[in-house]
Amino acid sequence: MTTKSHLFYQTDSRRPVLAEARGIYMWDVDGKRYIDGSSGAMVSNIGHSNPRVLDAMRRQMEKSTFGYRLHFETEPGEKLAAKVAGLTPEGMEKVFFVSGGSEAVESAIKLARQYAVTVGQNSRWKVISRTPSYHGSTLGALALTGYNPLTRPFEPMMQPMPKIPAPRAYLDGLDIDDPATGNHYAEMLERKIIEEGPDTVLAFIHEPVGGASTGALVPPAGYMQAVREICDRHGVLLIHDEVMSGGGRTGRFLGADHWGVAPDIIAISKGFGAGYAPLGAMIAHDRLVEPVLQSGGFMHGHTYAGNPLACAAGLAVLEEIEAGGMMENATRSGDLLKSRLNDLMQRYAFIGDVRGRGLLLAFELVSDRQSMRPLPKELNAHSELVELAYEQGLIIYSRRTRDGVEGDHFLVCPPMITTAAQIDELMEMLTAALDRFA
Ligand code: PLP
Repeated sequence: MTTKSHLFYQTDSRRPVLAEARGIYMWDVDGKRYIDGSSGAMVSNIGHSNPRVLDAMRRQMEKSTFGYRLHFETEPGEKLAAKVAGLTPEGMEKVFFVSGGSEAVESAIKLARQYAVTVGQNSRWKVISRTPSYHGSTLGALALTGYNPLTRPFEPMMQPMPKIPAPRAYLDGLDIDDPATGNHYAEMLERKIIEEGPDTVLAFIHEPVGGASTGALVPPAGYMQAVREICDRHGVLLIHDEVMSGGGRTGRFLGADHWGVAPDIIAISKGFGAGYAPLGAMIAHDRLVEPVLQSGGFMHGHTYAGNPLACAAGLAVLEEIEAGGMMENATRSGDLLKSRLNDLMQRYAFIGDVRGRGLLLAFELVSDRQSMRPLPKELNAHSELVELAYEQGLIIYSRRTRDGVEGDHFLVCPPMITTAAQIDELMEMLTAALDRFA
């Protein structure tokens, strides 16, 4: 574009102008076609322009687009909350709508704190999280985020929160399938709780299957269960940040469903609205919500939260996921894509790890597999490879999370409707980009 733009986002680099998007494909105004190989930022889970979702939104728009939650209940809101409650662990029947992931996390920690105050546990306020992690960009969620480049400038404005290492067994040379590995990392949580003083610790938050910060990190055997037990032992609430892993992308509605572990609070967003509407939810166990509501109500809310249009979109998205067997396809296509990414490790020595569940997948670049040392920072591999893929017409998502001393990973997360033939097409583009990178 040559005309002056008044828009700004995170950086000053400009992108082509989007013209239209359908299924797993997107086109810019010059007619170039792209495969949406990361579903945006792991958002467009059911693909673009799904006709039934558009139709449901159109029908809702003709009825009402906004009804303020202090003035009206809405039908789509009630229906969506009931549907979500049916998809979450038993007893987690209270759904609080928001418009995005950071809002969902903010709501989760504020509900946890209000619950503690309500039941006389005033001293509990610390929320332990992991490094690396990403929990959102608002100041509360950012304080939980374990990623210095994003948090550093804002540190004076935030309450520091305790951190423990994420269970990156592949970097520590540990066996992900060995329960001793899960215990090893979970014990770090217990030690941190004791060090901080259990009476001061309110909650532990983590991503069951990691998102952008860890590159689809899958926890080692036994980790999820051990974390649950440790939280219970110390009266610490367990919050699952399923903003990215929730909504079906891993092949189950929630990432934690793979391990059958129920938290006390869940934050979801991204694939929940699937790019059709800004939508997210905080889902909490009744035993937390009831005392808070009885003691005067939850002192928190966002104006657009739970508006009928967003809820109608969310409901239609969930119905489409069910009707289209999309979670099953996420497993099927995810297995295929993962095996194809694993094949790339034979071809390129600089791919050090492939990981993830369902269609939440990533690969990581390293200098050599023995040491798992990252590529030199000056190579700018994370942006370089993304650009090469872009030239091919493939969109992938990258992060350099290991900050200076650490490495580059790439999320390959196409929509849950991706077919085997489309995976071939995606892999052809990715291989061409990697060949040019090599
Ligand atoms: N939590 C996780 C795990 C995320 O991946 C994200 C976004 O990437 C967020 C929270 C914040 O979500 P949002 O960008 O919608 O505010």
